[in-house]
Amino acid sequence: MIAEQQNILKTYFGYESFRPGQSEVIDKVMSLTNTLAVMPTGGGKSICYQVPGLARDGTAIIISPLISLMKDQVDSLLALGISATFINSSITSTELERRMTDIAAGRYKFVYVAPERFESSVFVNVMKKIKIALVAFDEAHCISQWGHDFRPSYRSIVPNLKRLRNIPVFMALTATATEEVITDIQGLLQIEEQHVINTGFARDNLAFHIVKGKDRTTYIRAFLEENPDKSGIIYTATRKQADTLFEQLEKRDIQVAKYHAGMSETERKLAQTSFLHDEKPVMIATNAFGMGIDKSNVRYVIHYAMPMNIESYYQEAGRAGRDGEASDCILLFSPQDIQLQKFLIEQSLMDENAKQQEYRKLQSMVNYCHTQGCLSKFILDYFKDRTNQENCGSCSNCVDHLEKTDITEEAQMIMSCVKRMGERFGVSMTAKVLKGSKDKKIQEFNLHTLSTYGLMSAYTEKELTERIHFLVAEQLLATEEGKFPTLKLNQNSVEVLKGKRTVDMYTAPIPTGEDDDYYKDLFESLRALRKEIADENNIPPYVLFSDATLKELSRYFPD
Ligand code: ADP
Ligand code: MG
Ligand code: ZN
Repeated sequence: MIAEQQNILKTYFGYESFRPGQSEVIDKVMSLTNTLAVMPTGGGKSICYQVPGLARDGTAIIISPLISLMKDQVDSLLALGISATFINSSITSTELERRMTDIAAGRYKFVYVAPERFESSVFVNVMKKIKIALVAFDEAHCISQWGHDFRPSYRSIVPNLKRLRNIPVFMALTATATEEVITDIQGLLQIEEQHVINTGFARDNLAFHIVKGKDRTTYIRAFLEENPDKSGIIYTATRKQADTLFEQLEKRDIQVAKYHAGMSETERKLAQTSFLHDEKPVMIATNAFGMGIDKSNVRYVIHYAMPMNIESYYQEAGRAGRDGEASDCILLFSPQDIQLQKFLIEQSLMDENAKQQEYRKLQSMVNYCHTQGCLSKFILDYFKDRTNQENCGSCSNCVDHLEKTDITEEAQMIMSCVKRMGERFGVSMTAKVLKGSKDKKIQEFNLHTLSTYGLMSAYTEKELTERIHFLVAEQLLATEEGKFPTLKLNQNSVEVLKGKRTVDMYTAPIPTGEDDDYYKDLFESLRALRKEIADENNIPPYVLFSDATLKELSRYFPD
């Protein structure tokens, strides 16, 4: 049996050996055990159903929510001399009829089908008549409402399929499975614990970076200039950001493609093709782009802004380096991203419970941006993946082994302030109080009378905010969950306050001391912009804005 599987892998696909987990999954499926495969993106999930599909008699039915992916998968099977087809809304009715006849006649080894197809009985009736090798749910997290791409139509077909007598085995495959999602899929398909093959989430070839306090467009331009031959994806948080960045880069003759839900289907298809074929090696997109995109040579994924949660972040960042080569995942963080994501959650149509859960997930994302531990480890911990406890040695926190500073005293001041404020306020109000800000809200809540008011006036509000976020990220302060998370003390804070525990922070990523340094980058880019506009209009720059005004502006727009 094992030899046969090896043989199929070699003769059909040309691979020498199985990747971690593949062989275990295939064994289980071959012995007709319902199986869930949890493997990272690029881990090789397709092989898990393709090999048993070939080894067994009959047709393998692959249910996939991704229309774009189906054609690619079918094309690559056809190229290997394996009969395959797909059924989704993109084909004409004549073509559909032809394919259905061929499926009914058992002419295909693999049939990829969209979940929506099961809403009419036509496909199910054909399925009843043929010999089925296996049924695989690809991207199975879409079945679960806990997954980040829940498709109700995907979930609803499961009971109907289970009623069919001629399905010998079910399998589910996903890259993103938190405990909730795994349990959900297990329950839905009756998969026992020992039949969940989880290879862990680690992607050793990805180096994670967090970049703070830089003008994002300037950073990206410089990055693209330094890496002109590499293919990459730049994710923005909104369509508008994508449009703006696209224009800015295109103006500079950088070969970029753009993809978001506000474009027509034709435009999107065109953009996708030119990216896949490396005519335009850089894709600027919202999260509408990428599910199931199998481009192996993506060397970097840059997040122009912080995404809503770690699940989406890891999925999107994970589109880099599918070929196993070293690749970079860069997140450009700015404090205002937090507000933007809160706003997006607030505006969404989710019910109140779901929103609360999103706020919690957002908090973990914010913590990721402020942790000073290994970033890979942070992500794996988040997914409760305990397969590897080592630091990665390649993320920005591992690499920038910067000067460690003891900030115990500062932490104590911050914690005392949180306590004095009655544990009723969030990060920004606490920073304002410590700074001794003249903000109207301070007066409103009578906070200027506290003994901690102005206690840390030597720091900028930004520095204070960074430190508070850091304490939260390291779980030295707690946050009450919700839209406006309030700061609370926890057991760790008590230990710090009592002097039983010290707090170390790596100082370099957070600008300290001369405040002006922090804004210098932005100031410089504003100056460059001023010069550009002035040149275009043939006027001296000072007519537009004085340096003093620019300095002022750079403080108002922290990014
Ligand atoms: P996933 O669906 O898990 O994201 P894919 O099934 O698309 O990943 O596989 C990712 C890449 O890895 C593909 O290019 C595939 O051909 C390759 N691959 C899969 N299994 C193996 C293997 N055993 N040896 C070498 N390459 C493999
Ligand atoms: Mg896949
Ligand atoms: Zn690391």
